Amino acid sequence: MSTPSLPPGCVDVPARPRLVFGDGTLGRLGALAAELGARRALLVTDSGIVAAGHAGRARESLEKAGIAVAVYESVRENPDTHDVERCRQAAVDARVDLFIGLGGGSSVDTAKGANLLLTNGGAVQDYWGVGKVPQAMLPLIAIPTTAGTGSECQSAALIADAVTHQKMACLDPKITARIAILDPELTVSQPARVTAVTGVDALSHALESAVTRRRNAVSWMYSESAFQKLAGSLVRVLDEPRDLMARGDMLLGAALAGLAIECSMLGGAHACANPLTAQFGVVHGAAVGVMLPAVLRHNAVPGSEAESLYARLAVAAGWSPRCDPAAAAAAALVDGVSRLLDRAGIPRSTVDAGVPVSAIPTLAAAAARQWTAQFNPRDLDVEAFISLYTAAAQPR
Ligand SMILES: [Zn+2]
Repeated sequence: MSTPSLPPGCVDVPARPRLVFGDGTLGRLGALAAELGARRALLVTDSGIVAAGHAGRARESLEKAGIAVAVYESVRENPDTHDVERCRQAAVDARVDLFIGLGGGSSVDTAKGANLLLTNGGAVQDYWGVGKVPQAMLPLIAIPTTAGTGSECQSAALIADAVTHQKMACLDPKITARIAILDPELTVSQPARVTAVTGVDALSHALESAVTRRRNAVSWMYSESAFQKLAGSLVRVLDEPRDLMARGDMLLGAALAGLAIECSMLGGAHACANPLTAQFGVVHGAAVGVMLPAVLRHNAVPGSEAESLYARLAVAAGWSPRCDPAAAAAAALVDGVSRLLDRAGIPRSTVDAGVPVSAIPTLAAAAARQWTAQFNPRDLDVEAFISLYTAAAQPR
């Protein structure tokens, strides 16, 4: 995150995970863990990843490097404080000195949360917010098996309160993984629906981070290249799931979008999506996707900076010639994104997603309380959220 006291235009980019990218890089896990001085690792994953054989290969690589491995394979979607506590206990029992998060964003978040409590004590609630982690944490190696959240590149741990179901975002540079292994082969095993919704989530991270109030020269670079990679490869991985080149572009795009969020945060589509998930169980990627066209149109005020940035993204994706006026190029961006959403099977409206129009006032009130709303390039109050939800209730 940039330091507020810096002069305008200056950027202070915090430390990043080391990125190890390429087919078969999971096999480097043991050597990388040994470089970190690890003797005993906790592999945090879920039963699907174990069944796909990825956890076994990770264990083999670690054991070859002389590292003892304990496996916590009970990760659940949207991990809560109970999950994190169970994982922390597994780490205590195995006396580990390294965490490995292998799986989707939930595996990485569970590992981050358990690491946080193991090294700093207390409860997740104590660290809810920004920069609240006093002690150094154990090293974490993040290995995503979906191209989506970008959690492998972020300093945030997202954990739900097991009692209130409130999602708590704990942000601190100490939470960031030391190394992210990006192995495209690991993403081939995911079901097509997961590829689609996580891919749309990554795409939305690139789009939202590109225009926020917190954007800067470095985050723009990440957002633009993330968008170019994701927009160019989402259809390819849906058409041909074994296309490793396209899988690699998706994985890199999601990681780059994760780096962009670190600098510039997210915007209106995420603010709208969270209440759709909390109140109607709409899967995160679908909830963000169903809102995206309305938010893009809302932000693309004629003559605004957001409009010209959207225009640049349309050019980067090859959806608009460089010579097009900004308004036409921004419109081409909305069209291109809508085509991708259709191809990914995202509901065409919130009504299609099972959300009644009568819920709009309650949803709008909840969206206005979302932290990400403040970073949207255009002010968003309850009235603005009502118009966004109203627009998204119509087929895009
Ligand atoms: Zn997201």
